[in-house]
Amino acid sequence: MKKTARHIHITGLVQGVGFRPFVYRHAKRYGLSGWVRNHAAGVDVVIEGSTRRCNQFIRSLKKDAPIASLISMLVETKAEPENLSDFQIRPSINGYEQITDISPDIAVCNECLMDIKQQHRRLSYPFTNCTHCGPRFSIITNIPYDRSATSMKKFIMCEECMKEYTNVHDRRFHAQPVSCIHCGPAYKWISKSGTIESRQECFTRLYSELKTGKIIALKSTGGFQLICDASNPEAVNRLRRIKQRHSRPFAIMFKNIEELKKHTYINREQKKYLQSWQRPVVILKDKSSYFTEVNPGYTTIGAILPYTPLHHIIMENSDIPAMVFTSANVKGSPLIFENDRALELLKQKGCDAVLLHNRAVINSQDDSIVKIHDHGPCIIRRARGFTPSPVVLKFEVENILAVGADFKNSFCIGKDRRAIMSQYMGNLEDYEVLQRFTNSINKISKLFKFKPTIIAHDLHPDYHSSGHALKIAEQHAIPEERIIGVQHHHAHIASVLAEHGINEAVIGVAFDGTGYGEDGRIWGSEFMICDRIQYQRKYHLDYFPLPGGDKAVKEPWRLAVALGYRAFGKNFPDFPLEFQKHIPKEKQKNIIKAIDNNVNISWSCGAGRLFDAIAAITNITHYAEFEGEGPLKLENIHKTSEDYYHIPLQNNAFSPDILIRATINDLLAGIPVSEISGRFHNSIINMVLVGVNRIAMETGLNKVALSGGVFQNKIITNSIYQKLYAQGFQVYVNQQVPCNDGGIALGQMAVAQQLAQNQI
Ligand code: ZN
Ligand code: ZN
Ligand code: FE
Repeated sequence: MKKTARHIHITGLVQGVGFRPFVYRHAKRYGLSGWVRNHAAGVDVVIEGSTRRCNQFIRSLKKDAPIASLISMLVETKAEPENLSDFQIRPSINGYEQITDISPDIAVCNECLMDIKQQHRRLSYPFTNCTHCGPRFSIITNIPYDRSATSMKKFIMCEECMKEYTNVHDRRFHAQPVSCIHCGPAYKWISKSGTIESRQECFTRLYSELKTGKIIALKSTGGFQLICDASNPEAVNRLRRIKQRHSRPFAIMFKNIEELKKHTYINREQKKYLQSWQRPVVILKDKSSYFTEVNPGYTTIGAILPYTPLHHIIMENSDIPAMVFTSANVKGSPLIFENDRALELLKQKGCDAVLLHNRAVINSQDDSIVKIHDHGPCIIRRARGFTPSPVVLKFEVENILAVGADFKNSFCIGKDRRAIMSQYMGNLEDYEVLQRFTNSINKISKLFKFKPTIIAHDLHPDYHSSGHALKIAEQHAIPEERIIGVQHHHAHIASVLAEHGINEAVIGVAFDGTGYGEDGRIWGSEFMICDRIQYQRKYHLDYFPLPGGDKAVKEPWRLAVALGYRAFGKNFPDFPLEFQKHIPKEKQKNIIKAIDNNVNISWSCGAGRLFDAIAAITNITHYAEFEGEGPLKLENIHKTSEDYYHIPLQNNAFSPDILIRATINDLLAGIPVSEISGRFHNSIINMVLVGVNRIAMETGLNKVALSGGVFQNKIITNSIYQKLYAQGFQVYVNQQVPCNDGGIALGQMAVAQQLAQNQI
């Protein structure tokens, strides 16, 4: 028989998703010899055998590729047969194959779902997985990714599982967490009335407790979740007390897509994300207004579909089609992932039972949250399913550590041309979150064999993240010039440049709530010309006072009074606005006094703060439960409008005074708040268009990068994107990392890399 040989060059998301074992298995199936190897951006395959077999192999590569992989390009060339005797997985040239083997956790695949219904050893077995699905990052302790380097280590495979694990034709060939009811981890039900160990009894008890409105802490892959019946207002309110969360919406896990469609509007893109192997929470428009206690006052629902066998088992058998699904933690503190901590929820916090198991979570991860904008995904929280998938860059970032910012923290380590973002950590103001942050830096550094030689951090002198950066620098004896402070908004824009591989000057628009400015004031509405080395701040909103500093973020009514005073003068407290009825006149006057005497006042130009002020003035939020509550609610009630308020550009600053005055006059004239919100959104959109066009006229620049938490707002981003595009601009936004501070570490890394390179 005449042999032919092919060289197949594959790029896309094919590393760390079981692609090489898959290629190996298929080559064996078709009796081909050759090899497979990772390269910088994908996988190379060489096969030798009959023409027919080679063709079959290539067809099946495309058709049967692992669920978590994505082939973006497959180039096939004829080669000379070398008469190889076997098929091998070869080590990669750059030596990074171990690192790219660390995959994110993958939602359970359909075949495994079949197994838990049919396969005797896996009937209702919640730990069922295969090479295509299951926990990865959450259970790994070290590389190479082997069972002994995971928290499956203590479970000795039974004979049957071992057969699957060692059989190249089996779907579970080298599936590290492979197990069954005979040999794997097991769940246990613990409540005040005792402990249940039998699997079936655990489940039966769980269903009946949920049905009667109980709140259960459930151990999933990345940590514990609290669940309860979403249609039971009493249960939901009790959950709110446990979590100390008064009105912030909870996510809902729906039984299936049909159930989800009864309550939400979804488009094709949203459906794609809901059903993706990453399985994030996707923010959707509420259709039924049925779960009033879950999302009180909001028109959106954070929806998620089951992603572990356990979720599927519960959702299919419990007779509850929609479950509140939220991270098990108490306000501000990190996600609980240890069994003993979960039991504290039972003892001290009033949760009714804990369903836990005996496999440790090594890397705890919250659920990811995604919003879908017109031009693509907007990641709100990047964690399970995404971490540690790298952002592949156009430049090398080896040994750079970027610690991120203090809010919505995520840090980033550099390996080769890959930026590996940590999972979402939380706000470092909380001591336990800070501990999680420092522990995770150690864990991830160990896991990826990472030693920093360059450290990037925010310029804010009081940030815990910056403080910790200096400590690490000391530990590693990193010289001063390699400790690089990056301005917050410059980092936001640089994160977009890094994602899109842009290495030239752009017009950057960074709108957020808070970021330390080089003049010591709080920035957050920056129009800049910047590249990865430097930025030139061109325009921003005019500074306005934040009475009480940080307190004004939690109590936006302070901002409303400050801006009302600025627009209307001293008798503003006598105005009959609705929000003022909730705030004693004395308190309002004290704010004015504080401003006049410059006592306890910081100055901000944060666009997010302007949203806060409008939300307070329009009586939407005077006390904020979380940062961004006011803006989110404003977006929620927004009604499409043709009108806008003028925000004139005076001496390089956009003045909000006319806007504030007009908003208040509109309110007094009885214009509905939804209409005012529409006009306000248009005003911000217009301001961005004016700023960008001005800079473009001066400089001839054509590329625009938008970043910062304000761009989570769908109305703002969709409209600006579309309008700038129509004007001929090339517009770039964050798609792989959050545009909020959760993505800032990537930007810090990109700037530090360029600056450090220039030092050489
Ligand atoms: Zn599977
Ligand atoms: Zn077994
Ligand atoms: Fe920010």
